[in-house]
Amino acid sequence: MASDLSIALSQLHRLLVQFAEAEAAFADGPRSITLSEKQVALAEQKVDDQKAVIKQTRKTADDLNLKLKTKEAELKKLQGQLNAATSNKEFEIFKGQIASIGSERAELENTAFEAMEEIDTTQAGLKVLEVELKSRRQTVQTVRTEVDASRAGLEAKLENLQAQIAVAEKIIPPGEGLSAYRRLRIANGSGALAGIEDNFCEGCNCRVTNQDLVRIRTGEFLRCRECNRGLYVV
Ligand SMILES: [Zn+2]
Repeated sequence: MASDLSIALSQLHRLLVQFAEAEAAFADGPRSITLSEKQVALAEQKVDDQKAVIKQTRKTADDLNLKLKTKEAELKKLQGQLNAATSNKEFEIFKGQIASIGSERAELENTAFEAMEEIDTTQAGLKVLEVELKSRRQTVQTVRTEVDASRAGLEAKLENLQAQIAVAEKIIPPGEGLSAYRRLRIANGSGALAGIEDNFCEGCNCRVTNQDLVRIRTGEFLRCRECNRGLYVV
């Protein structure tokens, strides 16, 4: 048979657990806001990085186009020289140069084309990242709204539980036991109390001595010799 004290302590313990849960839920709010804000910052960074890549890709493409124009001018000039060649030897020389510059130009054209394609790819990538950023920003808004909406309710719940706890704590006899309970309550929250299940303290899984069990059953307030939690029989 559980003593009246044990029954009261088990009720108090339940209140302490509920209080700890409400406190955790309360702390979860700002934590989820911070977390989703970090996701926004990360998505912003990705967008900025991608813009830098696009800028660099554009510069590469511009440089290549410039080189291409120079090659074309060279080719035009050589073509003119070829047409004005006065000997077979000269003709052959210009022809050779034209062939060599021509293949260089073809290579440049390929590279320039690839650079243009790269711009398209990186721009498509930017669009995806911008969509992601927008969605992350919306998430922050949603999380903020939800946290704001639940804050008042959680505050009221905590206040209410605190009041119930204050009343329920009166069952603990004043003295060393109560002081120890208060210290543990500050340090461990709901871990200030522990039930006894099959003669073992539920807080630390240590065996409670038979002598202590008898004293607890007769309504004494005792603490676990191992973990110091106030004990009750369930
Ligand atoms: Zn214990």
